[in-house]
Parts: sequence; structure tokens; C-alpha cells
Amino acid sequence: MFEGLRDKLSNAFKVLSGKGKITERNIEEAIQIVKTALLAADVNYKVVKEFVENVKKRALGEEVLKSLTPDQMFVKIIRDELIKLLGEREPFKLIHRPAYIMMVGLQGTGKTTSAAKIANYLKKQGKNPILVAADTYRPAAIDQLETLGKKIGVPVITGDRKNALKIVEEAKKQVKDSGHDVVILDTAGRLHIDDEMMQELEQIKEMVNPDEILLTVDAMAGQDAVNSGKTFNDRLNVTGFVITKLDGDSRGGVILTIRYITGKPVKFVGVGEKIDDFDEFYPDRIASRILG
Ligand code: GDP
Repeated sequence: MFEGLRDKLSNAFKVLSGKGKITERNIEEAIQIVKTALLAADVNYKVVKEFVENVKKRALGEEVLKSLTPDQMFVKIIRDELIKLLGEREPFKLIHRPAYIMMVGLQGTGKTTSAAKIANYLKKQGKNPILVAADTYRPAAIDQLETLGKKIGVPVITGDRKNALKIVEEAKKQVKDSGHDVVILDTAGRLHIDDEMMQELEQIKEMVNPDEILLTVDAMAGQDAVNSGKTFNDRLNVTGFVITKLDGDSRGGVILTIRYITGKPVKFVGVGEKIDDFDEFYPDRIASRILG
């Protein structure tokens, strides 16, 4: 995770190592390396520009802490700014009873897997979740969710395999007095964003008034993923993101850009194919991973 970025950033820190103080000259060299590193990690150009400006201003302007060497000071500033960029944690808010969570996302991003991961996460917290398989577009998704549900001991509502709206309508009736406090809907994705999908998602949103609309975004897909995140958010006003496949050789661009571009928080991260390869989002932990 983030190996390339980590290696390149460490070169920037080396520039300042052994130096007596941070000067305009040595900071300029270090900043250039940081800039190249972030661009190579596929971080959005505007984000990079603002990031390095902030770092430079702080590095030159701030009172250097006596306890820190220039390179330590620089690492601290980069760390603080990375955390700022990743964005503050925002709570996972389940208010209604039952509360609905709508999982949305393009095909292959890990939506179905993440739906089961969230069910498992909630179950461990003492909740009584139920899954609804309303991805009628990808034929295998319904069976996949049923298999995952069995594995984690969470029931799965399937119903009419062709009509997502019917499945949701039926699910609403079934869960009403069932004792399930959270209903997780796996909705249909597509390979690319299209209007039919968005209309269906808008209708489902209208039907269930979800407390959370979580968009799964593939960390390996770079700025395409950020762009599709923006399009989904513009249309559906999502409540947050699940960034999947962070365990792969994702460069960092998605997780470091999506909050800035959409204004919406990352809530969870997927770090593998197994059900437990799933974490709440902690910006400080991600920053530590990036800095090594
Ligand atoms: P969907 O089409 O969006 O529902 O995607 P799936 O849930 O079927 O996931 C697509 C593929 O990505 C599957 O092979 C999953 O096992 C895999 N996958 C999902 N989340 C992660 C993750 O966090 N890390 C890795 N390495 N693979 C993942």
C-alpha cells in the first residue's frame, strides 16, 4: 500500500536531514520532490498545488520546534497536511429504525463484498442487520450476496431477480416488524455511469430514505474513480465513500483526492477480499501508512 509514494517522500526528507535549519533553498528542493511524488501517485493536480503551497508556507513560517530537527519538522508538517487532505472522520450515522444503508458503485468496485463486510461489522457491534440483494444487473451478484450472507450469518432478501424496485418494495414490507435494525441494500452497478442506473438509484433512495448512501470506489482506478465519485455524488448526494482495494498497489491518488473534490468523507476502507479485511477510516492511520 502506497509504496511508491512512501519511497519518494522519504527522498524529500533526506534532503533536509543533517541540515542546521530549513532555508528557502533546501525547502524548495524538498518541496519539488514532494510535488513529483504526489503527482506520480495520481493525486489531482490542483490538490497537489495547494498541498505544496501550504507545506512551504508552514515550513518557512512556523517557529521551528526546538525538539525537532529540520527533517523531523518537515515530516511533521507533511503528516499534518496529509491528515487535513484525507479529511476528518465523520460518524457512521444510523438514525431510523430500521435504518437503511444503500450501497452504490460501479461494477467491480467491490460493492457486493463491501455490503457483506458492513453487515458483518455491524453484527459485531451488536446490531441485527439484514441484506437485500437488489443488484439485478450483474447476474451473479445475488448468489454472491447469498453466499456471503450465509458465511456471516446474516439473512439475505432476494425476491424477483429482474426487478430491483420490486425487491426493495418487498424487502421494506418484510423488515418492518422483523426486529432487524439495519437494512443494507446492494444495488445495481454498471461498467460505466449511465442514466438508467442513476434513475433506478434515485427511485430506491426515494423509497427507503436511507440514513447512509455509501459509494464504493476502487483505489486502483485513480482519477477515473474520483471523477465517477463526483458524478455519483452530484446526482445522489452520497453520505460517504468506501475506498476498496487499498491492499493492492494503489498509489494513493484516490484516497488523497476524493474528499477535496467531492467534500464527502471516506467512512470505510477495504483492505482485502476477505470479510474481515475492512476497517473504519482513520486519517491518521492512513497518513502513517503513507509515511512509513
Ligand atoms: P461489485 O461488482 O462492485 O459488487 O464487486 P464485487 O464485490 O463482486 O468485487 C469485485 C472483486 O473485487 C471481487 O473479486 C472481490 O473479491 C474484490 N474485492 C472487493 N473488495 C476488495 C478489497 O478491498 N481488496 C481486494 N484486494 N479485493 C477486493
